[in-house]
Amino acid sequence: MQVEKIPQEFMVALPLLQQIRAAGFEAYFVGGSVRDTILGLPIHDVDIATSAYPAEIKAIFERTVDTGIEHGTVMVLDHGEGYEITTFRTESGYQDFRRPDKVEFVRSLKEDLKRRDLTINALALAPDGTVIDMFSGLDDLENKTIRAVGDPTERFFEDALRMMRTVRFASQLDFKIEPQTLQAIKANAHLLEKIAVERIQVEWIKLLLGKNVVQGLDAFLETKLYKYCPQFATREQALRKIAKLPQLKLADELECWALLAYVFELTPKQVRSFLKAWKTSNEISTEVQNVLSILEQATSDLDPLVCYHAKERATKAASHLLDILQLPLTGAKLLQTYTALPIKDKAQLALNGKDLLQTLGLKPGPGLGKILNTLEQKVVLGELANDKTVLLAQAEKLSKELN
Ligand code: ATP
Ligand code: MG
Repeated sequence: MQVEKIPQEFMVALPLLQQIRAAGFEAYFVGGSVRDTILGLPIHDVDIATSAYPAEIKAIFERTVDTGIEHGTVMVLDHGEGYEITTFRTESGYQDFRRPDKVEFVRSLKEDLKRRDLTINALALAPDGTVIDMFSGLDDLENKTIRAVGDPTERFFEDALRMMRTVRFASQLDFKIEPQTLQAIKANAHLLEKIAVERIQVEWIKLLLGKNVVQGLDAFLETKLYKYCPQFATREQALRKIAKLPQLKLADELECWALLAYVFELTPKQVRSFLKAWKTSNEISTEVQNVLSILEQATSDLDPLVCYHAKERATKAASHLLDILQLPLTGAKLLQTYTALPIKDKAQLALNGKDLLQTLGLKPGPGLGKILNTLEQKVVLGELANDKTVLLAQAEKLSKELN
């Protein structure tokens, strides 16, 4: 097969491939970007594979960085861009179900493609646009099939993460998992226990953001992979409930975690420990709690203070989830409430602590904070205009009441 129109991302890297070839070696584009090019999807990372050894790559190019030299990867700097060039390699050992004990550099493209996970990810693209397909990946792309390269059981024994990648691609690309590959996951799902949570998390989020989430989730549940993910083992029913949501189209990681926390009915404390177990960032954990604070009060007369305190990002996520979950409050109504807030942040209040100290001669302390909070709340609720004179007058009244 010939790729008719080589994407721009490849075009800019072509001179590098040609330079490697001029030095007498082979060089190809490989991996996900080749798959996505053939599918007509946008590409994100350009991976280059070569028969040249790392030292040979370093001799060809003037500016290189050893980004992963032990795995055969050298970064070549060109016109302010960095390109990762990786030597063809074979992997062996895999005693821990996740990493090869031994990596060996080889001169054969076929050997390199053979160690890749799925046939659709084992394609190479030559500079002239020819696709090199040694494991019928093109047929599988055509038939929308996810199939392990070689014997699936063996491949999942080598690296158990590949099972998660398989269900992720079923969702992301809306492809069916080939029966033997699916069977091998069912038989070996427990091996996922050996894999670092961070790596599982990446695949899990890509699954939830995919084109056919229901298909990915069904495979994730049917194969029992979920049992070996943090805090999922006893939550099959709740996960099934997610797969049944009619308009399940999530926009980002925050929406994914917030939906899970909501469906699992987690308390704020449980949210923290759940997300900690999944090793998400603290920022996501805080935002998820903000989203939940809105969802929990999703009646038709939402208190504007709730979305004021949740802030913009969480409000947007909540508005999307309200519609997905079909709660009484609509997403549009929530956004309307948020947009109508007179101020979105304390910093927008027409008066600050310094003003109170200077103009009213108040002393620093809890009383001052109390006054500011009251003013903030009244402005958010539209009970006071966000005007300095109005706020000062109100502050004076409040300070007298406090004394
Ligand atoms: P994405 O579009 O999400 O980046 P990808 O297939 O490009 O998907 P990467 O993690 O970028 O995924 O990996 C690049 C390539 O490396 C893959 O296409 C595949 O050929 C190979 N690969 C990645 N992970 C594995 C693995 N666990 N086992 C075997 N090969 C892998
Ligand atoms: Mg990639």
